[in-house]
Amino acid sequence: MPLALLKDLVKLPSITPQECGIYTMIKEKFSQIQTPLLESLVIEQENNGVKNLFYLFYPKGADIGALPHLCFAGHIDVVPTGENWQYEPFSAKEVDGYIYGRGTQDMKSGVSAFVSAICQSLESQSLENCMLSILLTSDEEGDGIYGTKIMLETLQKRHLLPHCCIVAEPTSTHHTGDTIKIGRRGSINGTLIIEGKQGHVAYPQKCLNPIELLGSKLGLLAGVNLDNGNSYFEPSKLVITDIRGGMEVVNVTPQNLKIMFNVRNSPLSNEDSIRNYIEGVLDTLPYTLTLKTSSLPFITESNTELVKSLNAVIETKVGKKAELSTSGGTSDARFFSAFGVKVVELGVPNDRIHAINERVKIDDILILHDIFIDFLAIFKKSARKFV
Ligand SMILES: [Zn+2]
Repeated sequence: MPLALLKDLVKLPSITPQECGIYTMIKEKFSQIQTPLLESLVIEQENNGVKNLFYLFYPKGADIGALPHLCFAGHIDVVPTGENWQYEPFSAKEVDGYIYGRGTQDMKSGVSAFVSAICQSLESQSLENCMLSILLTSDEEGDGIYGTKIMLETLQKRHLLPHCCIVAEPTSTHHTGDTIKIGRRGSINGTLIIEGKQGHVAYPQKCLNPIELLGSKLGLLAGVNLDNGNSYFEPSKLVITDIRGGMEVVNVTPQNLKIMFNVRNSPLSNEDSIRNYIEGVLDTLPYTLTLKTSSLPFITESNTELVKSLNAVIETKVGKKAELSTSGGTSDARFFSAFGVKVVELGVPNDRIHAINERVKIDDILILHDIFIDFLAIFKKSARKFV
C-alpha cells in the first residue's frame, strides 16, 4: 500500500505551496478505516495559499488532550523539477526497483509510509490509551511561515499538542534506518563591515585601507570553530560566504570591506557569544556587525523513550542501530521542538533530494513502512512512557 500511495502522490505536481488535492486523498483513505471505538478529529487551515492538515485519531469517548499523543509530520510540497529528466518527473515511473519523480525522496515516501502504517495499524488494533495524528503542510520548501508553525499554534490553543513526533524527512545516507536526526544545529547569519577611508593608492598614508585593517585578523575569523561541540553537535564554525570591497581598479583603496558569513551553531554558541568573539578579535578596529538568528538549535536526548524505542525497532528491522545525527540544514522539526514536543526525523535516503532524476528505492520505502508499523505497536502498548 505505501507504494501505490506514493505513486498517487508523486503524480500530483504539488510544487510549493500547491496541495493538488492530496489532503482529500488522505482524508478519504483515513475515513475508510473500519475500526470500532475509534474517533477522529480534523483541523484544516489555509493561509496565503498554504494548506495544512491535522488528522487525529483517539479512542471513542476519551478526553481529548489527556492521553499520550504521537504525531507523524511532514510536507507534501516539492521543489520545482528543473529540466532534462530521464523520466517525466510527475509520472512516478518504476524502473529497476526504483520509483522516479520529484518528491519521491523529499518527502512523499515518508508521508506514504506513515499514512499507510497508520491505516494498517489502526485496522488491526484500535487505540486504547493513546492518540495518533498526522500533521501535513504544503509550505516546507518555501518560507514556512504559514505551515507547521501556524498549525502548532492552533494545536497549542486547543490543547492538542503532541507529546512526541516523528518527521519523516529523508534522513538516511545509504539505506533507510542508517541515520536518525535527533536534533539540528541552529543557523545565524552575519554581516561585518570594516569601515575605512577611500583614497589614492599612491598616498596610503592619507587612506584608511580596510583590507589592511582586516589583514592579520582574517585568520581568526575565517573557518574558526567558535566552540568545541559536544557529543551531539559538531563545533560551531564561522563560515565566510562573501568578502568584498573596492571598485575592481588598482589605483583606489576601498572605503569599506564587507564580509558575509553564516554559523551553523550548536547550543554552545549564540548571537551573544559570536558577537563577543568578534569583538575580541577586531578590538578597536572601526566596524559594524549585524547578526540574525534564522533558526535555533535543538536536541531530543538519546535516552528519551522516543529515540530508544525507534532505534530498537530499527535494529530489529535492518540489523544495526541508526547513527544519531544533528547534521544537515533546518527542517520543520525545529518548530515541534520550540513547542516542547520531543521530535526526531527518520526517512529514506536523501542522495537525490532536490536533484534531477530524484528517485527512491522501493526497498527503502517498504522498510520505512515496516519500521513505522512496529513502532506504532510499541507506542500503543506503552504510550505512557513516551510522555
Ligand atoms: Zn523535505
